[in-house]
Amino acid sequence: MTVAVGTSFAFDNTYARELEGLYEPWTAAPAPAPRLMALNDELAEELGLDAGALRSPEGVDVLVGNTVPDGARPVAQAYSGHQFGNYSPRLGDGRALLLGEVHDRAGHRRDLHLKGSGRTPFARGGDGKAPLGPMLREYLIGEAMHALGIPSTRALAVVATGEDVAREAMLPGAVLTRVASSHLRVGTFQYTAALGDVPMLRRLADHAIARHHPGAAAAENPYLALLERVLDAQASLIARWMMVGFVHGVMNTDNMTISGETIDYGPCAFLDAYDPATVFSSIDHGGRYAFGNQPRVAQWNLARLAEALLPLIDADQEAAVAAATEVLTTFPERYDHYRRDGMRAKLGVSAAGERDDALIDDLLEVLAAQRVDHTALFRALSAAVRGNDAPVRSLLTDPSALDAWMARWKAVLATAGEPGAVADAMDRVNPAYIPRNQHVEEALTAATGGDMEPFRRLVDVLARPFDERAGLEAYAAPAPPDSGPYTTFCGT
Ligand code: AMP
Ligand code: MG
Repeated sequence: MTVAVGTSFAFDNTYARELEGLYEPWTAAPAPAPRLMALNDELAEELGLDAGALRSPEGVDVLVGNTVPDGARPVAQAYSGHQFGNYSPRLGDGRALLLGEVHDRAGHRRDLHLKGSGRTPFARGGDGKAPLGPMLREYLIGEAMHALGIPSTRALAVVATGEDVAREAMLPGAVLTRVASSHLRVGTFQYTAALGDVPMLRRLADHAIARHHPGAAAAENPYLALLERVLDAQASLIARWMMVGFVHGVMNTDNMTISGETIDYGPCAFLDAYDPATVFSSIDHGGRYAFGNQPRVAQWNLARLAEALLPLIDADQEAAVAAATEVLTTFPERYDHYRRDGMRAKLGVSAAGERDDALIDDLLEVLAAQRVDHTALFRALSAAVRGNDAPVRSLLTDPSALDAWMARWKAVLATAGEPGAVADAMDRVNPAYIPRNQHVEEALTAATGGDMEPFRRLVDVLARPFDERAGLEAYAAPAPPDSGPYTTFCGT
């Protein structure tokens, strides 16, 4: 059955139209008793969709995959990927579908995608399902990232299916409606390159250029320019992760986008104490995706993209490798550039006449040595600019270890402008609220038990992360000292 919801799903499915061979047409498994658990009104509005219509039984049926809206052309996308360094030639959407592409109000093309919608031809041993908790987790953290100004896929809705799924226990099942500027991944290119079909690879690359990096089309070598632009977008993205203490947890090449958006919130979490060795995921035994490794892993993943693009970069393989390598080696300097710029803003010294870039790493060294709360510390720095050092000092077990650093920092700050304005600008880049682990767990546990109130409250808090509000002190407080190491499970 096809239905129109409201007036506004104007699909235009370029992926399905242009990239036959890189997907399987498919439809979602029926959900017996769909129930809307969360709807993102603001995003619905941005997409030009009628939130009221989406809340109706017909709308919920679309969001859970029970009905295919007019113009949609659901497909399971093919991709491969390196998972923890090992290549899997055929991953693909095992439990998800690209419903189609729509234009948002600003005219940007956005994918509508269902995750948890049942087994597809790519499902291998999986059940094709997703539990409610992890889908709400993706909603919460993706929206938090977006509010922090970090490029991310977003969540339009989570609908419980009315069916239990078997994990460690039986859990309520759910479908997430995900919105992304596309679902093109490094793994999409790996899959296509492995087919050995160069015209198809060129079609994919042209599609990616048109969608995400149109400037590359005019370059002397558009495919080398595509590589460079993806590299740059990812360097900027990872720098932003590092500045808010975000640990993705499963940076496999199938979980890295061509657009530069964060994708696939599985075992991800934010740092409490600053420590580059932090790993939250229960399956990341070697610490491959530890917080401090993320820039290196990103570059490794991008090398896999470069390999896939070689036949397009130059017909002469040696020349292609040389050109791609030259681009790849610019990753560290691009990353450093974005990080330095962002860190200067976090420290309030962007406009300072004096430069002391060692301030950044010297501060982080003290934070690591004393396991200081990353988010709270940066937020407390603006109080110091306003003349009150107490909040910063209260976060350290040995505040004297920061005395020399504070003196150096203040000397640079003195050349950065009027302190009130500097402190205000810092508060616009150092969040008061991030999705703290204890609150995320509390919200998801309550939701799984049927109480959505803590989830709603947390979504609200995280929608305005820089805007400190009375009554929300608990959301800004560091993790309780007795909370021990936090572990996330891949049971998604
Ligand atoms: P992820 O770790 O979520 O990025 O998924 C890695 C791969 O496993 C992708 O190909 C997914 O589609 C697939 N996958 C994950 N969970 C399931 C599941 N429950 N059923 C089928 N496929 C799955
Ligand atoms: Mg994935």
